[in-house]
Amino acid sequence: MKTIALAGNPNSGKTTLFNAVTGSTAHVGNWPGVTVDKKTGLYKKEEEPITLVDLPGIYSLSPYTDEEVISRNFLLEEKPDCIINIVDVTNLERNLYLTLQLMEIDIPIVCALNMSDVLAKEGKEFDLKKLEEILNIPVVMVSALKENNIEELMHRAYQACQSKRKARSCLKGTSISHLIGDVTIAFEALKVDYPLFHAIKLIENDELELKDHSNLVSIIDNFKMTFNDNVLGNDLEAVIADERYKYITSFSKKLIIAQKKEENTEFLNSTIKTKSDKVDKVLTHKFFGIPIFIAILFVIFHLTFSEDLFFLNALGLVDITSFAGTPYEGLFANGGISSIGVIFTNLFNNTFDLITSSIANGMNSANVNPVVTGLVCDGIITGVFSVFGFLPQILLLFLCFSILEDSGYMARVAFILDRIMQKFGVTGRAFLPMIMGFGCSIPAMINTRTLADDKEKIATIRVIPFFSCGAKLPILSAVSGALVSKWGIGNADLITLLFYAVGMITAMISLIILRSSTLKGEKQPFMMELPNYHMPRFKSLMLHLWDKAKHFIKKACTIILLSNVIVWVLIHFSPTWTYLEDAMINESILAVLSKMVQPLFTPLGFGSQLKGFGWVFVSASIAGLIAKENIVGLFAVLAAVISSADPDLMSDIGSVGVLIENTGATFPALFAFIMFNMTTIPCFAACATARGELKKGTFKWTILFWLVTSYIVGTICFVSLTVLWTIPIFIAVIAAVLVLLYLYRIDKISFRKKESK
Ligand code: GDP
Ligand code: MG
Repeated sequence: MKTIALAGNPNSGKTTLFNAVTGSTAHVGNWPGVTVDKKTGLYKKEEEPITLVDLPGIYSLSPYTDEEVISRNFLLEEKPDCIINIVDVTNLERNLYLTLQLMEIDIPIVCALNMSDVLAKEGKEFDLKKLEEILNIPVVMVSALKENNIEELMHRAYQACQSKRKARSCLKGTSISHLIGDVTIAFEALKVDYPLFHAIKLIENDELELKDHSNLVSIIDNFKMTFNDNVLGNDLEAVIADERYKYITSFSKKLIIAQKKEENTEFLNSTIKTKSDKVDKVLTHKFFGIPIFIAILFVIFHLTFSEDLFFLNALGLVDITSFAGTPYEGLFANGGISSIGVIFTNLFNNTFDLITSSIANGMNSANVNPVVTGLVCDGIITGVFSVFGFLPQILLLFLCFSILEDSGYMARVAFILDRIMQKFGVTGRAFLPMIMGFGCSIPAMINTRTLADDKEKIATIRVIPFFSCGAKLPILSAVSGALVSKWGIGNADLITLLFYAVGMITAMISLIILRSSTLKGEKQPFMMELPNYHMPRFKSLMLHLWDKAKHFIKKACTIILLSNVIVWVLIHFSPTWTYLEDAMINESILAVLSKMVQPLFTPLGFGSQLKGFGWVFVSASIAGLIAKENIVGLFAVLAAVISSADPDLMSDIGSVGVLIENTGATFPALFAFIMFNMTTIPCFAACATARGELKKGTFKWTILFWLVTSYIVGTICFVSLTVLWTIPIFIAVIAAVLVLLYLYRIDKISFRKKESK
């Protein structure tokens, strides 16, 4: 069994090649930094099976981010039998910079010149033989996308696995080759593997190297002393980088040859180039860039969630009453023409309702025990289906984002938003997962893989739930509707928007606090190349969607199913395990447990101060952990029981109204209730995702963070809205905290600067 590692710059096509070779479906995106962990796959067309390892992209072997450390450590410690170095021919110089460093490790290398299809399209030829001569390693022209020449590449790599290769550096013969020689000998004496590589990295002042081999630094210092500093300068790192680039440019221009006859394509090409530049001029424009992005986002969300497509109904352009009485009424028209996402959701839900009710009827007529019927229909089937119901909208959202991502646009968005996001301690890349959080936290958390910095990733995962997800929307609109009808406060849409806004403000403040306290990191410079625009590929879009759907369905059928059963039991049994009818809900285990913790919520307004049914708010929050839709559902059931009305006749707003009447909940308490639920621990499915994405040990702190934040936010909302004059005090306290943190950070940075001097 041989092991071959794929190494190359971000976005050079490693994962595409990996998928083509191993038949896997790893995520490919036109967006540097998609592969954040190494992935392995098998190739069996040679005499021996080959393990292929897809590594995160790197620009050099002096690691800058955690994912780059993964790549470097793999090469140095796992010692693959061969490295396939993928070089994007359309970015030859920059890619060869890495090649030169890989060649300093004593491992056989095969250079795969990728994107040959682009070169061919541009009517250019590449002088393979010349590059092979210069580098003295095998070079193969491939197109990972078109799957050209892949077997040839693997065959050459397999042959290379059988051989040995002595490390070689392009720095030989330069002003520092003498120093490199000395340090290499020192490393050889220590019997370190890959002495040449370590020697050069140490001279480059590489952080990891300084840590591991600090005893050898004196050789370099002695060397510097014996030479006049003016000859070399003090910054050997810069000298080395400079020599490498000089070396590359000495031959790179001659490698790509435009074919003579094809002047026309050359011309065509330059027009295409300028076209793409023109597009970028608009899309990444200083002022228009952000509004354009917001407009695109709006269209996507509108197509996914809107019940009044293009506002045709609000504008009075369609007459939806014509649907009345037809079978399409619920499907296409609910206060307007439904968007694609809503139509699919309705289709799903109608089908699920049909299935559920026919199963319930069947069980009833077969005289099955009502406890069993209740458990199966209300506990299991409804619970799982209510989650499946979100699938169409989530997939649609994902499809749109995948298209934006694969076309290359998302990289631009990260770029235009970086300036703003840096103020909150994260890079522009963190914006996409946050925005996705409005749809569903699960895909949003998965998307944080594109963040290179670990602490930035943790911080982002923590604030994602504060971007209120689709499942929270029903309870937001129910409560704001009730507020309007009960107290005549303002406008329901505005109140809903206010809920969203408070969530986002909480997210931003949390980011600042996290990034300057427990998750403090160096300010990350934002480095991302802008990939070329290209048509999204249908196959990879579909694979991507299928992956997401699979993940989601699995969750619904396991963790969500289990927790639904548990809640159902808690609602329908008393602590002495007697089965309770709906009317007895006040004595259920859930009620008893909720009443026990209810006093804790007194500062938030829905604790001890409420009357007999006050515990419903606590239990709704608990049920919300399973799925946030449960909150409205539980309200409806409880309100129906309290007012002994038919739950099906009770509108959502009405049920909140009944609860207000029977519990004495106030407007500030309801506001605090919503904000608590928005910022507290998200649903179990999202928690499971967070746990998978976070490193071990950080998950429990994340849970604690959510609890503490939601408690503080809820308390602030309740107190400040109850006693209005406290609002300035809260604002002052928050501002003071932020200013102190800011000063603290500045202090640290200037301190560090002094230290490095
Ligand atoms: P990675 O970051 O190195 O893993 O790169 P990916 O495999 O994710 O690919 C980055 C982008 O380059 C994707 O949009 C691919 O479709 C595209 N790509 C990869 N290989 C080729 C190729 O041979 N030709 C062309 N035209 N595009 C490619
Ligand atoms: Mg990749």
